Amino acid sequence: MSITVSCPTCQTEVEWSENSPNRPFCSERCKLIDLGEWANEEKSIPGEPAVIPEQEPGNDDHYGQS
Ligand SMILES: [Zn+2]
Repeated sequence: MSITVSCPTCQTEVEWSENSPNRPFCSERCKLIDLGEWANEEKSIPGEPAVIPEQEPGNDDHYGQS
């Protein structure tokens, strides 16, 4: 009896065993592809400023709102 899973990248059947060190991916290539796409999504989140603006000392409006 063997358990198989579908590779998240290419949907290839992968045997869930020591024979598949990259499971649930069928290969290291598919593993890197999936991780790469995930990282790109992280970087593409809108609304995240690339540069954090410096807080002006003495400006209390920031604290007064909450
Ligand atoms: Zn694959």
